[in-house]
Amino acid sequence: MEYILTADNHMHTYRSDGNQTIEENILEAIKKGLTSIAITDHGPFHHKSARCEFEWQLVNKHELKRLQKKYPEIKLLSGIETNLVSLRGDIDITKEQENAFDIIVMGQHRTPHGLKWWDNFAWRLRNLLPTTKKRREKTTKAYLLAMENHKITILAHLNRYMKVNIKPIAELAAKKGILIELNGKGVNFTEQEIQDILDSGANFVISSDAHRKEHVGNPIKVWEFLKTHNIPKERIVNLK
Ligand SMILES: [Zn+2]
Ligand SMILES: [Zn+2]
Repeated sequence: MEYILTADNHMHTYRSDGNQTIEENILEAIKKGLTSIAITDHGPFHHKSARCEFEWQLVNKHELKRLQKKYPEIKLLSGIETNLVSLRGDIDITKEQENAFDIIVMGQHRTPHGLKWWDNFAWRLRNLLPTTKKRREKTTKAYLLAMENHKITILAHLNRYMKVNIKPIAELAAKKGILIELNGKGVNFTEQEIQDILDSGANFVISSDAHRKEHVGNPIKVWEFLKTHNIPKERIVNLK
């Protein structure tokens, strides 16, 4: 089956841990024939060298507005890759700040910073421990709370670090219209988990998670994954 990507909703710039500018991302996306992209630099609790403070997120947003006039042929969306930062389902921007973005990608990462001291134990340090059934259940609950309480558009790279129970997450994603990402740097779903997502009614979205311009619109690991896993094309929202 031939897959052609139409949009790429998860990519970084030098303002977090990418090494490219917004404009370089745009030019690459146009070259690859995409009709829409979102710039999603890491949120303010990401580890130190890779975070993008909210003020700089707003600079991204401003720049996108300016570049939209220069490149009317592609739709530019302002986004963020926010961090899940506690067992209570908190993320690293406030409710008010959420409204600044068109797209909110939420991911769990290994070493968020700036947490309250008790979350350092309850969340950050436990991320480094092996997955047990109990830890998996607690992480799953944190995801469900975040999905209920925040304006999440896309769940990034599920199962990459802390493992979760996919079924309840997919069911809530279906109910709330949240998309489940197939990430260009690696997909961590079993055959059964893919089936559970399909059964739940939730849809997938493919993202490059590009940290270099040449990866924009080129989610290499997803193309490899789709060679051996059958996901109906109509269940992936950004393919044609
Ligand atoms: Zn991420
Ligand atoms: Zn990312």
